[in-house]
Amino acid sequence: MSLLNVTDLNVSYTTSSGTVQAVHGINLTVERGQTTAIVGESGSGKSTSALAIIGLLPDNASVSAAAITLTDQPVTPVMRGKRVGLIPQDPTNSLNPTKTIGESVAEGLRIHDHADVKSKVLRLLEKVGIDQPEIRYKQYPHELSGGMNQRVLIAAALALEPDLLIADEPTSALDVTVQKVILDLLDQMREELGIGILLITHDLAVAGDRAHRIVVMQQGAVVEEGLAAHVLANP
Ligand code: ADP
Ligand code: ADP
Repeated sequence: MSLLNVTDLNVSYTTSSGTVQAVHGINLTVERGQTTAIVGESGSGKSTSALAIIGLLPDNASVSAAAITLTDQPVTPVMRGKRVGLIPQDPTNSLNPTKTIGESVAEGLRIHDHADVKSKVLRLLEKVGIDQPEIRYKQYPHELSGGMNQRVLIAAALALEPDLLIADEPTSALDVTVQKVILDLLDQMREELGIGILLITHDLAVAGDRAHRIVVMQQGAVVEEGLAAHVLANP
């Protein structure tokens, strides 16, 4: 049984100029403890597919699917907040600028329990490689680099103890030197915690380095899907 199973997902957007079918009947799976990458050019439907899974599509989207399940259970709105975490593209615009780092990470923990929030936040900050957590805890996003803010967002997502992380171009807003560090951190968390990762990227090389399975999208459809080595061998 796969961790995530998506069967026959369709998404269309309605705008003033008409309806666009952005995703056409795609299928994909993520196995527990593994990474599946969705690769494709800009506009091929990667983000739309990811947002449909986590239930965060804009109001003008219309979704249908034969199945979106986590360990064979339909993904419900409640599960989306707890069992599926999202790592967004641009860390600087994704953290609340009026909240401290500690407050942002603690938001996830409050859903589970109230006791011992501070020590858990500090442990999470340490886990994602943030130096001097006791000091960072009280700082605001603008006081940290983009890479550090992305670590904070990963800590906030992990606070929910999700089974699946969806990372939508998680390094596209970061310096090249920091990109590898963040992808390494996601790999490390996946191995330590046994979570699955759905990695959205336009970069086939990144997918080849990081993913067990690769799904190639073109104009809203899956044109190739399989084990990474197999997909890379058939360009
Ligand atoms: P990406 O390619 O990184 O997924 P886009 O630049 O395509 O991002 O989209 C940025 C934002 O604009 C998203 O919120 C997306 O939903 C929205 N968007 C993209 N295409 C359209 C469109 N044709 N009409 C309205 N909104 C769009
Ligand atoms: P990708 O993530 O691969 O760049 P997207 O999923 O962002 O692709 O976009 C797929 C298609 O859906 C594109 O044609 C895009 O313009 C369109 N689209 C995305 N978001 C919206 C939106 N909010 N409204 C209308 N069209 C959109």
